[in-house]
Amino acid sequence: MKPDGGNLIGFGSSGPGGLVFKAFNPATGEALDPGFASADRDDVDRAVQLAAEAAPTWARLTGAQRHAFLRHIADSLEAKAADLVARAQLETGLPEARLKGEVARTAGQLRLYGAEAERGDWLDARIETAQPDRSPLPKPDHRSMLRAIGPVVVFGSSNFPFAYSVAGGDTASAFAAGCPVIVKAHPAHPGTSELVGRLILHAVRDCGLPEGTFSLLFDAGYEVGQALVQHPQVKAVGFTGSLRGGRALADLAAARPEPIPVYAEMGSINPVFLLPGALAERGAAIVEGLHASATLGVGQFCTNPGLIVLQRSPEAERFVATLTAKLAATPEGAMLTAGIARNFAHNVEARTGQPGVRVLAHGTAKGACGAAPVWFETDAKFFVGNPALSEEIFGPSSLVVWCQDRAELRRVARSLEGSLTATLHAGADEAKQEGDLIELLAARAGRVILNGYPTGLEVSSAIVHAGPYPATSDGGRSTSVGTRALNRWARLVCYQNFADDLLPPELQNANPLHLRRLVNGAWTTGPVA
Ligand code: NAP
Repeated sequence: MKPDGGNLIGFGSSGPGGLVFKAFNPATGEALDPGFASADRDDVDRAVQLAAEAAPTWARLTGAQRHAFLRHIADSLEAKAADLVARAQLETGLPEARLKGEVARTAGQLRLYGAEAERGDWLDARIETAQPDRSPLPKPDHRSMLRAIGPVVVFGSSNFPFAYSVAGGDTASAFAAGCPVIVKAHPAHPGTSELVGRLILHAVRDCGLPEGTFSLLFDAGYEVGQALVQHPQVKAVGFTGSLRGGRALADLAAARPEPIPVYAEMGSINPVFLLPGALAERGAAIVEGLHASATLGVGQFCTNPGLIVLQRSPEAERFVATLTAKLAATPEGAMLTAGIARNFAHNVEARTGQPGVRVLAHGTAKGACGAAPVWFETDAKFFVGNPALSEEIFGPSSLVVWCQDRAELRRVARSLEGSLTATLHAGADEAKQEGDLIELLAARAGRVILNGYPTGLEVSSAIVHAGPYPATSDGGRSTSVGTRALNRWARLVCYQNFADDLLPPELQNANPLHLRRLVNGAWTTGPVA
């Protein structure tokens, strides 16, 4: 399998297109063939029109049919893993083992979300049967459930070329919920995007699904993404990337004549609070764990621990000194793109000049997109009230915040904005005395971790990958990872006084799909009595 550089619009490809761009190997700086043609306005219109035509068919597919389609994509990804990984290695510089693992994770996600679609619990089907003789007023028959929202636009992320890109979590959950998808490929890995896109199209044909089920558009700039978000037939958007990009797209969507939801997963500093008992009991293990978490993937994870908060003590100072020595000895790695490497260097330079901020470790890098760990320290009194110090530096950089006492530790916690995660390391009986700190953290993060590390996300039915703004654009009311992600691509519809055969099967008396439903106040998988 080799990419040919064309947009995939339904079962066809684009016209001559606009500007041609190429992928770059971040490890060597070399440009990679072929050139990819930016889509134009007509391509955007065609892809959205096809998706809008496919939407009613998609909304009526059963969960089992969606599951079969997602399984087909998962099987093809695994069958073609060697080709996919080879191209992704060239485009991202990520190690082969990491990319192989990511393909497996992507296939697992597709199957998990498909199984959720088939089980159907997520639809939250509820039935209140009529009581025509109720006095003083008769009670109508009400039946409601979540129904697919319509065409969804997904922006592939740069840092997960499989798991959060073309067939990644947003696409998988949107298909599972019953929506056609148009992906705006991330320009950092267009070849990988095209290869995965072609596998999806094979699955569309093999499963006998409509042409507009899936399209993939390339762009060298912002025009295609913005045109997609503004297109009147697009009903929701999924995005993973920068705060600036996510916010720009959310603002565009809100300014449309018909505003639509944008589920953007953006910046996050993922604070880690280290209590004295934890350092006393297992300081050496925490040095290892934190170092591994903070340097994994050259720090390019949205769950990277960017803020380390602890009370000053001789033991804590020894802990930070050991960690600093380990960071200073960490070799450089290639960042995913020249732009990300430039942002990292710029943000590090800006932090270096901040009042009250000292450099702890400052690695230097020589490679084309190279970066080595740069860590800073400051005191709580400088941190609180200085919003610039709460900003994420995407890459291998974290800020250590020193507190004088527990009260100052809480002041730091209270000053934090939303994050995807917040971590607490506590000694054996220490966590029990920290209920208020845990509450402060839970109010600011979608996932609170005890004695662990934020990187290494398990995709499951219970996971939450979200958080109050700026971690996500919807205040953390949904998740972009885990089976709850399906809910983002659906809206509630209630049917009043419908004859049984006019209802969707999910709401019919006989319960032909054997769903778990709330019938007259009681959960049941049986028929309506
Ligand atoms: P990005 O700049 O946010 O771009 C993500 C996607 O959105 C790209 O396809 C980009 O298109 C598009 N986009 C960005 N701004 C746009 C706008 N105003 N209008 C229309 N489309 C727009 O993210 P990135 O390129 O992956 O990396 C840049 C920075 O994002 C990193 O330095 C890091 O701070 C952050 N990041 C965060 C996460 C996370 O997990 N939350 C993941 C990756 C990156 P083009 O690239 O074609 O311009």
